[in-house]
Amino acid sequence: MNKPTLLASIITLALSGCAQFAPSYNADLIITNGEVLTIDGNMSVIENGVVVVKDDKIIAVGEAVLAEQYRAPKLIDAQDGIVMPGMINTHNHLPMIAFRGLGEEGISNRLFAYFFPLEGEKLSRELIYNATKLGAIDLAQSGVTTYADMYYHMDEMAKATKEVGLRAVLGQTVIKFPVVDSSAPYGGIEYAQSFIDQYKGDPLITPAYAPHAVYTVSKEKLQQINQLSKQQDVPVLIHVAEFPNEEARIKEEHQASSPVEYMAQIGILDERVVLAHGIHFSENDIALVKQADAGVAYNPMANAKGATGMAPAWEMYRTDVRLGLGTDGPMSSNQVDLWRTLSYASTMQRLKHDDRTIMIPEQVIEMATMGGAKALHMEERIGSLEVGKQADIIIVETQSANMMPNYDPYATLVFQANPSNVDTTIVNGEVVMENRQMQTVALDDVRSTIDAMEADISAFAKELAKKAIKSKSLMD
Ligand SMILES: [Zn+2]
Repeated sequence: MNKPTLLASIITLALSGCAQFAPSYNADLIITNGEVLTIDGNMSVIENGVVVVKDDKIIAVGEAVLAEQYRAPKLIDAQDGIVMPGMINTHNHLPMIAFRGLGEEGISNRLFAYFFPLEGEKLSRELIYNATKLGAIDLAQSGVTTYADMYYHMDEMAKATKEVGLRAVLGQTVIKFPVVDSSAPYGGIEYAQSFIDQYKGDPLITPAYAPHAVYTVSKEKLQQINQLSKQQDVPVLIHVAEFPNEEARIKEEHQASSPVEYMAQIGILDERVVLAHGIHFSENDIALVKQADAGVAYNPMANAKGATGMAPAWEMYRTDVRLGLGTDGPMSSNQVDLWRTLSYASTMQRLKHDDRTIMIPEQVIEMATMGGAKALHMEERIGSLEVGKQADIIIVETQSANMMPNYDPYATLVFQANPSNVDTTIVNGEVVMENRQMQTVALDDVRSTIDAMEADISAFAKELAKKAIKSKSLMD
């Protein structure tokens, strides 16, 4: 070896030594040894990847060697697990978790004969707070880091969601009837305004308006909400085209051919709106939604259970509509996580189109992450593992029997995995769950409250079911 080569070797050795023993940059958290699904524009997968977090953001994503450049007080070894963006549930009514498993006796008019009387009797601020806490723990444990919700007393939901440490878009319900948080019709508008004042700019909570549907909120109120949402720059969540009879009602009352067309006609279909369901969308509706740049929440499992129909999700996906996945409330799908929904999202579209080549697992995982971010108009902040994004990350273990073998991580996630495979959940840079242990709020802390709530609801619910079934037979 001649002298210059030797010198170069020494310098190289010294430099690599420096890189190895003296990392150059400070970080807060480094995740190593995972199969990283970035869900970036190229759907890049890094076999033995690293994700680096500082404060609430992702500051580096790359190959294993990247870890040597950073020092951090917290290191997480993913142990060959799948590292991916946290999932986004774009439609929920989380506090209804207090009632999940009830009203499953085959009641035909379930919404009016069962749901509404049950809520009328049992809903309270306290129940909403406690049930949200349970629901948020369930979400965190199953890898959902952001959820969108339409319900009542959203300040209670925000408080419980923040305690657990999740991100949420919380829409205060506006409806033409008196409801639990307002004795006057449309009291939700005033409620929403003070809720928005309280939470606007919060790092985890995005406050929103949630007009229930176009047939339960008047044209004037829908337009007022649209104006307010523009002024305050907040989202609007609404149920649309969930039931087949919505169309006939709209035709009769408003001379529009569909709920979406009606929304466009009265000027409330815009880029702040998230439409839940869209089961009965026509081609023209999809074009209007696309043109308005509105988002859509596709809820295949809830729609199947409620026998409400199969949304044209594949058509929306191909038209590049902002399309995310949702579960709807826990009385509609009984699950708040997205694992079964992933499978339904794929299989129902394949059945509908009689085509096994569509909705492949990669597309479904994109829909559950980046698609959800786009549906909620939050794609600049969440939905992928890329530098500058908020650090909302999950690790899914691949050591359990149901996760083996793992040839294609997308297929493993969509068709094999279940909530218990989620090992670690990180939201906004904070570790909410690690090694399946909650780090923020323990399930044991809410157990006795939930047990008491169950005991209180149980007897009333049984009587109500009997009455509801009887009223059905009387009507028949
Ligand atoms: Zn809903």
